[in-house]
Amino acid sequence: MHHCAETGLSYELKRSSRRRTLAIQINQHGLQVLAPLYLDQYTIQQFVVKKQLWIREHLAKRAPVPDHISRQRIPFLGQELILRQVRDSITAVTRDGDQLWVQISRRVREENLAATVRQRLERWLVEQAHSWFAGRIAFYSKAMQVAPQQLVIKGWQTKWGSCHANGTISLNWRLLLAPSWVGDYVVVHELAHLVHMNHSEKFWALVATYYPEHQQAKHWLKQHQTQLQLK
Ligand SMILES: [Zn+2]
Repeated sequence: MHHCAETGLSYELKRSSRRRTLAIQINQHGLQVLAPLYLDQYTIQQFVVKKQLWIREHLAKRAPVPDHISRQRIPFLGQELILRQVRDSITAVTRDGDQLWVQISRRVREENLAATVRQRLERWLVEQAHSWFAGRIAFYSKAMQVAPQQLVIKGWQTKWGSCHANGTISLNWRLLLAPSWVGDYVVVHELAHLVHMNHSEKFWALVATYYPEHQQAKHWLKQHQTQLQLK
């Protein structure tokens, strides 16, 4: 880690022989400065000083990933479910209104507890994703007059959906941690690929016909993508 005394900013310096200019990058690890291999430290520091306003603004915007499990609350299609974790004779996850009961068998050792809870919650979300997306696909495919063949639930980190030419629609269970209108957008987007296998103007026009607020949904995903985690 490098530290800039003038701005108080810390950053990771990444030098590369292929790089010709200085650049700044902000990701989940923080601030990175990309620099040509032999550029002197003074020029790099001056660059950080010059860009400090932009850097501060973007560091502030970077949303922390919430630890839903330790908060004992899980966002679910725009609602919030309260986690009720109990030791029991069996391991199971059951929803009761706005409460999500997580029963963990007494045979599960204390050191494996957190991992078991996360694993069981994820499994529950995958099951919910199957039934919820199946319903949304049925609704929109009828309206759009398309015929998807199969639904697959994935757990990608930053991808929300995909559509294969054979009619398979894949969707990310993490979308259940977002409001339902965001999940609907991804469904319409993937179904529209059954008509246009690209992101052409015609494709976006079709999406807009069945989902006029697609810009808002895209924006929401961009802003919240790091938060759609169980952790
Ligand atoms: Zn697409």
